[in-house]
Amino acid sequence: MHLVQRRAKGGLRSAAHFIWPSRSLVSGRHHGGIGLIAPEDFARLSFLGDSGCRQCALPLDTDLGEESLCGKCAAKPPRWDAARAALAYDDTSRKLVLDLKHAGRRDGLTTFASWMTQAAGDLLEEADLIVPVPLHYRRLVKRGFNQSGWLAQGLARKSGIPASIDTLVRRKPTPSQGGLSARERWRNVRAAFAVRDGARARIEGARILLVDDVFTTGATLSACSLALRRAGAAHIGVVVLARVVRPSDVTI
Ligand SMILES: [Zn+2]
Repeated sequence: MHLVQRRAKGGLRSAAHFIWPSRSLVSGRHHGGIGLIAPEDFARLSFLGDSGCRQCALPLDTDLGEESLCGKCAAKPPRWDAARAALAYDDTSRKLVLDLKHAGRRDGLTTFASWMTQAAGDLLEEADLIVPVPLHYRRLVKRGFNQSGWLAQGLARKSGIPASIDTLVRRKPTPSQGGLSARERWRNVRAAFAVRDGARARIEGARILLVDDVFTTGATLSACSLALRRAGAAHIGVVVLARVVRPSDVTI
């Protein structure tokens, strides 16, 4: 774009921002900064970085480098190969997640995809296919969207790696995981997912990046990974927008 045009566009943006200041996605308050999140809200978000457990992204007290594992993963490795999370799920990020999941608010998607791209790092760069955790079709019809599908498409746009939103299907109309204990969550989603027959050839031998909005106990991601593994996936990476890090937040 020509320099004059670019300056004119920048000037218009500044004028628009002066007339309609941004509303922060976190607090809902108008703010003078540029972007969707007020600087003071941004400072309250807990970005997890890559110092957590390499298999489940749980923050660890000590950074042991690339081979860091939490006690749980060391005792029983998860069904996927590695996991990353952009944010800790806490009082600040909860608003972002709930607005996306229950209100279908899309304006943060590009920002969330950028954070998740950064968190996923090599798991995204080396992936052949991006696959979101699916909803059962009845819930999809009722809600009208799958927020994990939106995040997967956002990652695909950023990376150029294809996303397939109908590779995994939810066979059982399982009740919502919200409010369930960890044990109930695992029971609820057991055998709930499958790879669609027509998508098997695409999964066989492929490196998959599995995408969800929140990692709570890992039950849903585990059930999805089992289905992908049975279809021959060579490697399964997981990336989520937010990860529960305190046991008290499991019943979200
Ligand atoms: Zn772990």
